[in-house]
Amino acid sequence: MNKKRCLNNYFSDKRNLNIIIVIFSILSILFFVLIPGCYAADLNSSNSSVYTQSTSDAATYTSSTTPNYTIYILDNTVGGNVLANPEISQNIPKTDLSNQIFEMTKQGSVVVKLGNVNGPKLLISAGIHGNEEEANIAVMKYLEYVKDLNFNGTLYVVPFDIPIDTALNSRIYNGQDPNRIANISGTPGWNIVKFAQTEGIEYLLDVHSGGGVYSTGLIYINSPATQTIKEKNWTNYIKSQTGCYISTDSADSPGMIRNYANSKGINSITIEVERDNIPTATAAETEFKLIIAAAQYLGFPGYNPTPTPTPSTVTMSQLASAAATVKSYYESNKILPDSVTINNQSVSMSSFLYLLATATIQANSGSSAAISLKTVNTPTYPSGTIKTGNIYKSEFISMAQNILSYISTNNRAPDNISCSLGNMNFSKVVYMYSKIINYYKTYNRLPNYVSM
Ligand SMILES: [Zn+2]
Repeated sequence: MNKKRCLNNYFSDKRNLNIIIVIFSILSILFFVLIPGCYAADLNSSNSSVYTQSTSDAATYTSSTTPNYTIYILDNTVGGNVLANPEISQNIPKTDLSNQIFEMTKQGSVVVKLGNVNGPKLLISAGIHGNEEEANIAVMKYLEYVKDLNFNGTLYVVPFDIPIDTALNSRIYNGQDPNRIANISGTPGWNIVKFAQTEGIEYLLDVHSGGGVYSTGLIYINSPATQTIKEKNWTNYIKSQTGCYISTDSADSPGMIRNYANSKGINSITIEVERDNIPTATAAETEFKLIIAAAQYLGFPGYNPTPTPTPSTVTMSQLASAAATVKSYYESNKILPDSVTINNQSVSMSSFLYLLATATIQANSGSSAAISLKTVNTPTYPSGTIKTGNIYKSEFISMAQNILSYISTNNRAPDNISCSLGNMNFSKVVYMYSKIINYYKTYNRLPNYVSM
């Protein structure tokens, strides 16, 4: 009571009231200036990632400790808390990366982008069906596996295609199966394929699980009428590594991500593991093996978890075996493979051409020394045609010198090489030198001419 009266008396004194207002104002200013400063300092001192908003309405995480990947929003209409799904929260370890993804997927589906431009582009998509958690778990495991590795090629991973459906453990989006309407503009599946088209992605791996699948897993392929040679080779490789089964899909629909992506020129397959009759974690392990095999085929990190030191040289005999492989691939398929394995490492066709041209010149001078590997970028726009005919030794030697000189100046393979038969495009140039070095493999000398 006394105290109160005292306060009342104090405030009734106008001079004292003014002093209090001034002191309160100073304290307020100090509060707003100092507190955010402490907060920012705290953020900067931690090892966690820095969150920035990019211009295109997409959020980007740049990791301060492992700048090997970026994460951004793909589709901001499908966000949800995937940790609300107990299969997800129990089977995916909480790491810096997974915590970032869990947080960002509340805003929408995210893309994790890794790697570089010196190789193929692969998109791995999981969870177009929100009740197939094996897919999300396996893809997240693969992300953890590759996130700190350096490799050639660009890997795009969408670990949760429709986070809101994963949160609800639901196959249905807006009353429909989202993997039957990917050919309809603006649907979640359409947005994923559109993204792949925009990025120039060549391969799409769509990851699922379902009822009644073999224990080694299953690959659904596009119908024989639409299946590409690259899809076929990719599929056969995964089967050879995992013992999985291959099948066309009786439910095939133009609105599946796989079919729709294929119709847009993207090599696309679906992988499935058992969803209902074995433990989620066991099925997710099988799915992980399928993903590893699919990635390895394209030169992305595969079975060997520790990156092997890159061999700096290849021998003439290793190169000659690779030349035989590329020669027969080209003769069967009329196109080059994306890469060839030499001494346990994936070599791009551009780098392979460098090795072949060097080997040709070496062989002409009687040397069989090992050749240093060199990373060579792909041609800008391969073009050119030739008439059929023979290229004689003196000419293919001088063409090899032109190739090496071009690569040395531009650090990329030429679009074509001018010769007596016309402008020989990049693919034919690689094929021609594969024939030449394949001949060398058999006869231990260069041929006098090569027929093109
Ligand atoms: Zn599915």
